[in-house]
Amino acid sequence: KPPFCLKSIDKTFFTAYNKALLFVSEVKTMSKYDPYQNMLKVLDSAAGKMGITADDYAFLRYPERTITVHVPVKMDDGHTKVFEGYRVQYSSVRGPYKGGIRYHRDTDLGEVTALAAWMSLKCAVAGIPYGGGKGGITVDPRALSMGELERLTRGYTKAIAPVIGPDMDIPAPDVNTNSQTMAWILDTFNLLSGGKSLPGVVTGKPTELGGSLGRNESTGRGVLFVMRETLKKFGKSLAGTKVAVQGAGNVGGIAAQLLYEAGCTIIAISDSTGSIYSEKGIDMNKFTAYKEASTKNKVANYEEEGIVHLPCEGVLTVPADVLVPAALENSITEEIAKDVKAKIIVEGANGPTTAEADAVLEEKGITVVPDILANSGGVIVSYFEWVQNLQNYYWSEEEVNSRLETTIVSAFETVWKCAEKYKTSLRLGAYITAVDRIVTTKKLKGSAI
Ligand code: GLU
Repeated sequence: KPPFCLKSIDKTFFTAYNKALLFVSEVKTMSKYDPYQNMLKVLDSAAGKMGITADDYAFLRYPERTITVHVPVKMDDGHTKVFEGYRVQYSSVRGPYKGGIRYHRDTDLGEVTALAAWMSLKCAVAGIPYGGGKGGITVDPRALSMGELERLTRGYTKAIAPVIGPDMDIPAPDVNTNSQTMAWILDTFNLLSGGKSLPGVVTGKPTELGGSLGRNESTGRGVLFVMRETLKKFGKSLAGTKVAVQGAGNVGGIAAQLLYEAGCTIIAISDSTGSIYSEKGIDMNKFTAYKEASTKNKVANYEEEGIVHLPCEGVLTVPADVLVPAALENSITEEIAKDVKAKIIVEGANGPTTAEADAVLEEKGITVVPDILANSGGVIVSYFEWVQNLQNYYWSEEEVNSRLETTIVSAFETVWKCAEKYKTSLRLGAYITAVDRIVTTKKLKGSAI
């Protein structure tokens, strides 16, 4: 006998039950942070401030092309594992698609779409002739051997080969990928192109394969230039500025080292195992040497006189003058924002601050230098690498660094002026600059197809 008869459930119960279900699903969707929705929120407010119509920028709310691939990989133990990967080609209005490839166990299509949109905006802010794209594979690369990683990378490249190329879509490194990953992509692509030499299909390659000098440090160096310019606006300089850096990878680790060499005091730094804090400042030469000695050397096991170990998020709320979130999206949430003590945030990561957190930071009078400006040093030097590949003429590191400085400082000034003109945040200033450039180019092209 069933515990109850359907007929006996009255309408009130049914409505309440349905409401409860709806509530549960709402809570579920609310709790899952969606970077693409976050990006759209900011995009819509920028368009609103500019006074353009929904029709004018409707195209920018969607990716032009989205590809999902499944890559079978023969694992070392002999069995076959299938990995899911993506390439999102968000905008080609201003040039070929451009953007990194990320390997992460939490990577999904929503994240890659947001990252591809940010690349489109970033290239427009930097004033370089690219659209935007991004790729990703849902994988924990630490669980794979070098051989497995190479086979996965080659399989993924084969799957996206029809839609990439030096004048079509140019990948680069991102979280958990590096110059070795780019070398495998380049080699696979060239083999599939009948043995042609097309170094411009990827950037962030080893210099031996046509990579640019200075590319590896470029995102961190860009963070330094942008921080220096921001401090200047407040009559301050890098020397003696207390900085906390979330992340010790290609962006955070290198930015922290360069800032230290420029006279900043790095009072805190973190990685995925924890944070360290020192009131008098961390010896970055010692810390960098420790991290470089082995990939197994993690923050949680680092020892130095005067340092205190904190949990991962601890780095975000130490009493620094400037905070550099240089890890993943969704680091500075509304709750954490309430606790941030820094007066300036320079976003080394893509999308580290949620829209809700942004509102809290603005209310507190904290200056946020947005990702699409602050971390554009990487793609700016990627552009220089591509230009050198196309010309087959290679520049000195000094030339690369000085061109990076000119380009990023000019982007900073444009964004600063735009934010002043619209009496808005630097984030909206950057979005308005980008949207204006993309929409203008789109209009000039016309609407034939
Ligand atoms: N992955 C980097 C970024 O998010 C660099 C992209 C590139 O150089 O294409 O900006």
